[in-house]
Amino acid sequence: MAIIPVPQLSDNYAYLVVDDQTNQCGVVDCAEADKVLAEVNRRQLRLVAVLPTHWHFDHVGGNQDLVRAIPGLRVYGARGEHGRIPAQTHEVDDGDTVEVGTLKGRVIGIPAHTNGHIAYYFPQLNSVFTGDTLFIAGCGRVFEGRAQTMVDSLAKLAALPDSTRVYCGHEYTEKNLRFALTLEPNNPALKSKYEWAKAVRAEGKYTIPSTIGDEKQFNPFLRIDSPELRTNLKKLVPTLSDDAVAVFAKVRELKDRF
Ligand SMILES: [Zn+2]
Repeated sequence: MAIIPVPQLSDNYAYLVVDDQTNQCGVVDCAEADKVLAEVNRRQLRLVAVLPTHWHFDHVGGNQDLVRAIPGLRVYGARGEHGRIPAQTHEVDDGDTVEVGTLKGRVIGIPAHTNGHIAYYFPQLNSVFTGDTLFIAGCGRVFEGRAQTMVDSLAKLAALPDSTRVYCGHEYTEKNLRFALTLEPNNPALKSKYEWAKAVRAEGKYTIPSTIGDEKQFNPFLRIDSPELRTNLKKLVPTLSDDAVAVFAKVRELKDRF
């Protein structure tokens, strides 16, 4: 198992990215160091890198404690976050590479939730860590960018191979799917994903990961061209233009109030 979710706070996920060849691991988005370190020790791994997707406290709150426990730990941080990543040692930008043992992750700049939000894409694991930009059946709130910024960022993630597994920052899936159904109540992929998610959550299990290809089937923020979604939006907002960014912004606004 190369990727291990470690639940954090009320609904966050940190992830251990494990290189089986060296037993080294990295951690994506650590809020609570004690839980992460317990998992690292239990599996007899060596934590060598911290990989934060953005500066929000629930994604970096454990960094200082990790560094205190493991001197010399590499802590990556996006240039666009302007030093707001605690304990940062290595600055990265879109296109840069991060290393965890023999694993190499490509940094993808996906601003909008924050200006310096990044994803980590590991081709060897066929997986991408999307933080608070792409959720299962949803996307993050647009705090620091504009609607166009988020549309562009989501397009970069959607351009990854369809089989790419998506590991996101929060367990928001069930509510996201409920919202998505208000716009596409007749989408069969969406309906079955919702039934699946309800059953999974009822058992207290995780809904991660998804895949890029699956997200295109039911994530409303990747489906702003869907005729059913557009028809239903027009019923709510008859004056809405056909412009993709305007449609995205309206869906995001409705979700903010859902
Ligand atoms: Zn956030």
